[in-house]
Amino acid sequence: MSKYILNRNQQDSKSGGNYELHNENGNCIRLPNHENRLDVGYFDNCRDAKAQAKTKYPSMSSDIDGCYYCCNSCHNE
Ligand SMILES: [Zn+2]
Repeated sequence: MSKYILNRNQQDSKSGGNYELHNENGNCIRLPNHENRLDVGYFDNCRDAKAQAKTKYPSMSSDIDGCYYCCNSCHNE
């Protein structure tokens, strides 16, 4: 299981910005600073983590996307 977090700041993307989901245990080069991390929880894969992030943070749900680097299989934009 890995701990997943959401960046509370929207990142640039072609379609207008998204909130990146990261695997905190994945040595990701794009992990946000600690004060900008929203806790999602512990999951076996980014697909489950992404679903939970959308449930937990409904106001951000339509813009949540997996990080290209550490959650590539959940990355859309
Ligand atoms: Zn990442």
